[in-house]
Amino acid sequence: MIMLKKLSKPQPSPFAKKTIRDASLTGKTVLLRADYNVPVDADGNVQNDYRISQSLPTIQYLLKQKCKIIICSHLGRPKGKDSALSLKNVAKRLHDLLKKDVQFVDDCVGPKVVTAAKNLKVGDILLLENLRFYEQEKNNDKDFAKQLADLADVFVQDGFGVVHRADASTDAITKMLPSVAGLLLEKEVLAITGAMQNPKRPLMTIVGGAKISDKIEILKVFINRADIVVIGGAMANTFLLADGIAIGESVAEPEDLDLARDILRLAKKEAKKRSFVLYLPQDAVVADEITKTAQTRIVDWDAHVIAAVENYPKQPPSISARVRSHEKILDIGPFSGAFIAGAMQMCNTVIWNGTMGVAEAKGVQGPVGPFAHGTELIIESMMGEFGRRPNSLIGGGDTAAYVAQRGLTDCFDHVSTGGGAGLELMAGHKLPGIEALQNK
Ligand code: ADP
Ligand code: MG
Repeated sequence: MIMLKKLSKPQPSPFAKKTIRDASLTGKTVLLRADYNVPVDADGNVQNDYRISQSLPTIQYLLKQKCKIIICSHLGRPKGKDSALSLKNVAKRLHDLLKKDVQFVDDCVGPKVVTAAKNLKVGDILLLENLRFYEQEKNNDKDFAKQLADLADVFVQDGFGVVHRADASTDAITKMLPSVAGLLLEKEVLAITGAMQNPKRPLMTIVGGAKISDKIEILKVFINRADIVVIGGAMANTFLLADGIAIGESVAEPEDLDLARDILRLAKKEAKKRSFVLYLPQDAVVADEITKTAQTRIVDWDAHVIAAVENYPKQPPSISARVRSHEKILDIGPFSGAFIAGAMQMCNTVIWNGTMGVAEAKGVQGPVGPFAHGTELIIESMMGEFGRRPNSLIGGGDTAAYVAQRGLTDCFDHVSTGGGAGLELMAGHKLPGIEALQNK
């Protein structure tokens, strides 16, 4: 006899907003806000399509519901119309990925758009031109939103990367159409809030990249919640400066020195209360310039080991422990990378945002550039290459793009399509573009 297992009741989803699964969409015209703000080269060619590919499940669901689909997005920060920031090439890439025709109009409002929308048949997809060609988009302009709303019956928000901003296509529009979440938005929110609220401990958080002022607040949250907080990338430079370490011509924000000192004090306090570590790099890869043939060297201001070994039996030159005034720190050094990778072997969850150096700079040998080794060590360690594979969450536009460019996206539990939105969500903020959607 076959024993039937008692089915456990499905758990209610902690995502409180209606999604496309909760709406009756059959045959309707849907306006879908996606985040197709992808890296493009000077000719507008798509450099990385992770954000486009992540939007496919929602589009495919809408196609199954026999919808007519109008997609809108922004790309970059244009000032008025700018052909280099057209979404035309995104339409082509979307077509390649979906294996289905994607129509494109070179405007996002106005008569051309109205006609194209009217002519749509069930299963048709129309991508509108860059919303930010109109300043009304960033101004959360009602009339502009109304013109978009008039094209469709329902609004679907799936652009996770933009929901922390109240723009016409994230806020004003939701006052004019029934508005629900897409599948990507739901997936992002569940993955990020899950990792923050209920992580398997120990939890390591790694913050790198360049935007210090954007990431200061999340550092405070991480110091409060995580077991180990690592600071790398250009972020670390301001902290090193605060610690009295020479950083030459490295990218730093000296106006944030006081903030950095506050953070260091906060971390010291936390470490007195409980088992907690804030880790700053102890060595770096430096060079005078970011070029393919730049001469690189390691500066090891903490352990003084590498140069001591390399120069034995002579004394290492003092410069091996000091960044020269014309040099720039462009990556964490091998000691720091190994320390972080080693500490990660003790962790069950790792949340990482921001590369450890100028990882995207191309080198002369192979796919890993001269300033990407630190970032690579983090990636390998998170993938379990050194033994233990923690739960992994990666965020940040440049970080996700690097991981995608290395073809490793699938090796992690969640690679977010958002940067700022993810950070704000982690900090526990309410995001206007999500709040504006219908409750379940
Ligand atoms: P994300 O988009 O992943 O959130 P950011 O936008 O904050 O990350 O920062 C990414 C950028 O930081 C990359 O373009 C990288 O070149 C830069 N960066 C990282 N480390 C350094 C460094 N030491 N010096 C200069 N730039 C750096
Ligand atoms: Mg970035």
